Amino acid sequence: MKRPIYSIDTPPPYPSGEFHLGNVLNWSYFDAVARFKRMQGYNVLFPQGWDCHGLPTECEVEKQHGIRKRDLPPDEFRKLAIKWTEKYINIMKKAIIRLGCSIDWSLEYRTMDPSYWYRTQLSFLIMKDKGLIYRGKHPVNWCIRCETAISDAEVEYKREKGILVYIRFQLEEGGEVEIATTRPELLPACVAVAVNPADERYRDLIGKHAIVPIFNQIVSIIGEREVDPGFGTGVVMICTYGDKVDVRWVARHKLPIVEIVGEDGRLNGRAGILAGLTIREARDKIVEELRKRGLVTKIEKIEHDVAVHDRCKTPIEILVKEQWFVKVRALTNRVLEAADRIRWVPPHMKHRLINWAKSLDWDWVISRQRIFGTPIPVWYCKNCKTPIFARREDLPVDPKKSMPPVKRCPKCGTSEFEPEEDTFDTWMDSSLTCAVHAGWPEKEYWRRAFPIDLHPSGSDIIRTWAYYLIVRHVAIFDEIPFKIALINGMVLGTDGRKMSKHLRNYVTVDEVVSKYPVDALRYWAFAGGATGSDIPFRWKDVEHGAKFLRKLYNAMYFASLHLNGKTPEELLVKDLHPIDVWILQEMNHTIEKVTKYLEDFAFNEALVCIEKFVWHVFCDHYIEAVKHRLYRLDDTDPRKKSALWTLHTVCDTVLKLLAPFLPHTTEEIYMSMAEGREVPSIHIARWPKPVELPGDAAAKEASGRLAIEIIAKARRDKASKGIALPTPVPVVVVEAGKERIKLLEPCIEDIKAALHASDVKLVEAAEESEVRAWVET
Ligand SMILES: [Zn+2]
Ligand SMILES: [Zn+2]
Repeated sequence: MKRPIYSIDTPPPYPSGEFHLGNVLNWSYFDAVARFKRMQGYNVLFPQGWDCHGLPTECEVEKQHGIRKRDLPPDEFRKLAIKWTEKYINIMKKAIIRLGCSIDWSLEYRTMDPSYWYRTQLSFLIMKDKGLIYRGKHPVNWCIRCETAISDAEVEYKREKGILVYIRFQLEEGGEVEIATTRPELLPACVAVAVNPADERYRDLIGKHAIVPIFNQIVSIIGEREVDPGFGTGVVMICTYGDKVDVRWVARHKLPIVEIVGEDGRLNGRAGILAGLTIREARDKIVEELRKRGLVTKIEKIEHDVAVHDRCKTPIEILVKEQWFVKVRALTNRVLEAADRIRWVPPHMKHRLINWAKSLDWDWVISRQRIFGTPIPVWYCKNCKTPIFARREDLPVDPKKSMPPVKRCPKCGTSEFEPEEDTFDTWMDSSLTCAVHAGWPEKEYWRRAFPIDLHPSGSDIIRTWAYYLIVRHVAIFDEIPFKIALINGMVLGTDGRKMSKHLRNYVTVDEVVSKYPVDALRYWAFAGGATGSDIPFRWKDVEHGAKFLRKLYNAMYFASLHLNGKTPEELLVKDLHPIDVWILQEMNHTIEKVTKYLEDFAFNEALVCIEKFVWHVFCDHYIEAVKHRLYRLDDTDPRKKSALWTLHTVCDTVLKLLAPFLPHTTEEIYMSMAEGREVPSIHIARWPKPVELPGDAAAKEASGRLAIEIIAKARRDKASKGIALPTPVPVVVVEAGKERIKLLEPCIEDIKAALHASDVKLVEAAEESEVRAWVET
């Protein structure tokens, strides 16, 4: 029978050259899932890709070579970008391997390769054929530093100091009105003045006309219910465009558009006296001019949220541009339906997606004025500008290097064409990963692997990666991209604040693994906190992880000394000792709990549960109680065989339960315990199931549990009397109810031996539930 597929939507990182602790958290989570599912018998599809394109690479290449991207032919620039990217992929790949992630490297891909262009371009054509793509003139967020359009998801808000200028406008009908604005340099692009129709002070103004100072265009005064009467004077100007609010009002009131800001952020000829100035310069100049003419009544210093480009922090301008768009707003209902069909871990992360999808008021602009990106497979008729799309069978194409699939323009018959120079937004590449990971379009198994089982991601990219994945897969395949969204939180710095290189709370992975085993770092990732919560990086968690690894090595070393490479078949016994039955039951509960925790992605609870069992049940109690049988009894004694079989079973189980978390340590111990026998890797062993115990297990377990309790009590007493544990004592006194004393009978030898006592004295307690134990000297 074919094993069922379990598919993982491994994030394709942007090759920045650093695999940081946030990545460690993310990759540790889903690597544990991959290992767990593999051990459960799934055929785990676990690829790794690299999301190569993008602005930061272009900026890095420019910086490194001291050039601007347009200084070189695009191909030359691309070559530099590829070289840079390959170098950083290598560094990050090494880091992923060092972390012990069980990636299938035969499925590695890079979005900068033409084989990946093929997928992005094909998905574009499919969406175009479904009527979900259009080219249009539309306001876009524009970064004047990077000279490219950017999407809403790339816009950040930053608190900045600014000015609120109060300016007098004359009315055409006589009289004047005072408006307040933070963008006085946009006066030449003022297309209307607005007041709130409910504002008694200005109701009479609606329908009148204002004369824009200095530039003298006459604009209507309109009523707009979104105007805040409490802002400034309660009278505002509408410009094309100061911000997204202007965009909304211009559309609603069908106002004209006056474009005055150029792609480089300088004002153009339509800005009159401000032409040629940058926005900052224009702002200073216009305030000065207005002042000279006595048109400024007041300037207030304010702090306000300014929209900036997330990469370079330059304030966004809103320009009107001919761009390619995806009709994401038309897909919102289907996105919301899809979000409902997905299991979100933790569940509240779903709302982040829903809120984002509902908040979008623009379509997604997918064209970018960049070089290092997937080419848009389109040409334009030189005469009438009709776009000509590539044919699917010709993909991948670079329109700058090949000819369109038609000889003449179907509209006007012209035989001359020009290529599309723009490239796709990088999210057009990475929003396909679910289908691509499943093997789309060429692998025969892709429909079986799709939708993807697990989409792991950070809480900070729900509004980009998760959102775009859902939009695109719903649009292209009429299907959800993934069944489960596993969202990890952010890694906080050593001081509990957001980790940042500027805050001196930044720790690199290299620093950690130069001091501790890499499994101790993984231990931190799993044990650091609940799945989905922000996880602080704490050295003491890593130290504790290292301590636990040592504890595990020591316990397993002790066991292997006695087991001597024997297999469980050689050790099989009919009659298990009560203390062995007790530890096996404890182990069975641990298996059940850990399995459930892992099914629920509760990594920290799973790991803590195993650790407690190993450290505080197995090491602290069981090993102490079993030593005497291991050291003193003959190999053929069934009591010793019972101990050895149990020891083997517990150690084997513990290692397997820990394998998804601590892959290096468990494999090393597992192999060394095989003592040279050929055994397959622990990572392809079957996930442990509870062992079946004989019919009288319940009674035996009760005996074993009571014996362990008594040993613990008497040990505490011995310690409190200042007697070292190995020091012989004449007698252990056990006081318990009649039933309990009977239960203890098969374990008297164990109690004596564990306490190094020559004798055990049993005293019947008045109360059945009373249990006491102490040593007498
Ligand atoms: Zn920028
Ligand atoms: Zn034409």
